[in-house]
Parts: sequence; structure tokens; C-alpha cells
Amino acid sequence: MDIILLGPPGAGKGTQAQRLEQRRGMRQLSTGDMLRGAVKHGTPVGLKAKEVMDRGELVSDEIVSELIDAELTAMGDDVGAIFDGYPRTAGQAESLDRILASHGRALDHVIELEVDEDALVERITGRFTCAQCGTGYHDTFKQPEVPGVCDKCGSTEFKRRPDDNEETVRTRMAEYRAKTAPILPIYEERGIVSRVDGMAGIEDVTRAIDAILG
Ligand code: ADP
Ligand code: ADP
Ligand code: ZN
Repeated sequence: MDIILLGPPGAGKGTQAQRLEQRRGMRQLSTGDMLRGAVKHGTPVGLKAKEVMDRGELVSDEIVSELIDAELTAMGDDVGAIFDGYPRTAGQAESLDRILASHGRALDHVIELEVDEDALVERITGRFTCAQCGTGYHDTFKQPEVPGVCDKCGSTEFKRRPDDNEETVRTRMAEYRAKTAPILPIYEERGIVSRVDGMAGIEDVTRAIDAILG
């Protein structure tokens, strides 16, 4: 089963993708994570993407679609993909159809996390992750069970993203509204879109997604 989690920055896509990985053995494919990896390692893609990401704008369709294609090539056919933060434009949506077909795969569900924009700045400015394993946390909404220690791997080091500041978030939200939200009708025509209340608690959102996936 291959699915897209769609929603503005801070909607909870990464949080839910990590939970689906653990519960269903699916695989999270986050172009944001891939790009941050490329920036960290100073690859040619990373060098191109860094400033665009710092501004909160979108990197080129070509770059992200190539990253996704490479990940799917490396991945087993029997493992379901959770697309997180991709596609983000009509061009990427077209590329994804082509890429999936070339791998003998197809989309089963597009799940839109509906959120109240006013809440997103708080979600994003409070976000941090484990520096070791990438598990996501929040200052107010999801502290580790033992303060300062990652639930999953026990690491005591955490990090925050440079683009998780209020100004960049506003640009990222504007990009979402202008370029990403308009791709939903493509999937609506196919009858594969479901909506989930992303303002509910993390557990409730997971339950709602489980009910859709069956
Ligand atoms: P968020 O958690 O806010 O949804 P991501 O981690 O998905 O953010 O993305 C961070 C940044 O990486 C984006 O602001 C953008 O610059 C870039 N990026 C990630 N995915 C894509 C994509 N599919 N297309 C273009 N740019 C992307
Ligand atoms: P996205 O990947 O869509 O940008 P994240 O999953 O990283 O969003 O979530 C953004 C922040 O909000 C994280 O710090 C996360 O712990 C927190 N968060 C995620 N889902 C919820 C929720 N349902 N209620 C409250 N906080 C949440
Ligand atoms: Zn960890």
C-alpha cells in the first residue's frame, strides 16, 4: 500500500509517518529529510537546496522527484511507501504517477491532515527531534517520557531545524497554499482522498488514519 500524507508545515505528517512505520512496517519517504541529509553531507543537491530551504521556498521539482525515484529503486516492492512532504506541486504529482508506474506501484490513499493555520506557528517553533534517531518531539505537546532522553534510542542530544522560525514558517505556509493545496483535486477525481482532523491529539489522529487504511 502506498499513501500520501498531505498538509501544511506542522500539520503532523512526519509524526504520523513515524508511527505508521512502527505499526505497519511501512516506509516514510520524506523529501525534507532527504534534502536535509544532502545539505549536511554537502552533496551537489545539498549545495543547491540549502538557501532555498532557509528561505522556506520550494526546491526544484526535478531534484525532489529524482530523490524519490532513487529511494523507491532501493526499496523492496513489498514495503508500502508513505510520501511525506512530496508531492508539493502539480509537476511533482505528475512525476510521482510516472515514477510509481515505472516501479509497478500505484497510490492507494491521499490523506489530508486538516489544521488550523494559527496553531501551526506554535507547533513548528516548539518542534525538536532526536539528533541520533530523528524521532520527533514538541516542547509543549510531546516531551520525551523521561525529560531530556529520547524514548526510542536513549540519546540525550536533540536538534532544531534552522527553518523552524516564525518568518520562514509564514513563507512555507504561503507556498503550501499557492502550490500544494491546488494538487488535491487531481486525487479527488480519482476518489482516493480522505480527510483527518489534524487538530486532534496525536493518538486520535493515528486512530483516524488507521480507520482509513483498514
Ligand atoms: P515541513 O516539515 O514543514 O512540512 P519539510 O521537512 O517537508 O517541511 O521541508 C523542508 C523544506 O525542504 C521545504 O521548506 C522546502 O524548501 C524543501 N522541500 C521538502 N520537500 C520538498 C518538495 N517535495 N518540493 C520542493 N521543496 C521541498
Ligand atoms: P510536519 O511533518 O507536518 O511538518 P510534524 O509531524 O513534524 O509536522 O509536527 C510538528 C510539531 O507538532 C512536532 O513538534 C510534533 O511533535 C507536534 N505535533 C504533531 N502532531 C501533533 C498533534 N496532533 N497535536 C499536537 N502536536 C503535534
Ligand atoms: Zn532517538
